[in-house]
Amino acid sequence: MRKKIVAGNWKMNNDLAQTKALINDLKNSLPNTDAEVKIAPTFTNLHAAVETVGDAAIEVVAQNMHQEASGAYTGEISADMLKSIGVKTVILGHSERRAYFGEDDALLAKKVDAALQNDMDVIFCFGEELADRKADNHFSLVESQLKNALFHLGVEDWKHIVLAYEPVWAIGTGETASPEQAQEMHEFIRKTLADKYDATLADSISILYGGSVKPNNAEEIFSKPDVDGGLIGGASLKAEDFVGIIKAI
Ligand code: PEP
Repeated sequence: MRKKIVAGNWKMNNDLAQTKALINDLKNSLPNTDAEVKIAPTFTNLHAAVETVGDAAIEVVAQNMHQEASGAYTGEISADMLKSIGVKTVILGHSERRAYFGEDDALLAKKVDAALQNDMDVIFCFGEELADRKADNHFSLVESQLKNALFHLGVEDWKHIVLAYEPVWAIGTGETASPEQAQEMHEFIRKTLADKYDATLADSISILYGGSVKPNNAEEIFSKPDVDGGLIGGASLKAEDFVGIIKAI
């Protein structure tokens, strides 16, 4: 059975008080669910988030991480620093990191390796831009993103990887991929994994969809057989909406 996951990426939102308040709202309204629930507050609030979550069934994850262990990398955060405050999972490859901070597949491969060497789990994001889809290039683009950043991994490494397919044209735009478009790509991703590794590995990997998932469209997207949950941006900033999405899985 693949893990079902609903993860909220809070991006650069919420100060300390807002972070604690949103976590407490979530704790008070968290539904009974088989899905793993994760939230990714900003770096400065991760420690407080871990403490505020306490023993509730919510995992606090990081939005990014540097690939080096320590040293002269002003402004950066290492795997050890995250682990020292109880954070064991990191989101890597988000399209905003790729677009605004120049993170490419080669760098992401190093970040993935650093996370795995530190026994961390990775939620790895990837997905095509609108121009790729219009040029009918989306499948080969997605395949190359996977190949370049992840296909050097061994079978055992994949136990620590969750994939998040996020078409860039659907992130924060209010435009979602249709459930059929999401399923078509998730099926392609699983087949690409099966071709590179084998069907057993491909069937074991949770593939999340991300891109304007809201309480009113989540159920249809999550009903697709190869969609194992969602990475949620905007709608994860309101407890009621995030809980609505969790209930839809
Ligand atoms: C995201 O940033 O990962 C995301 C999916 O954002 P949104 O849900 O706001 O489109």
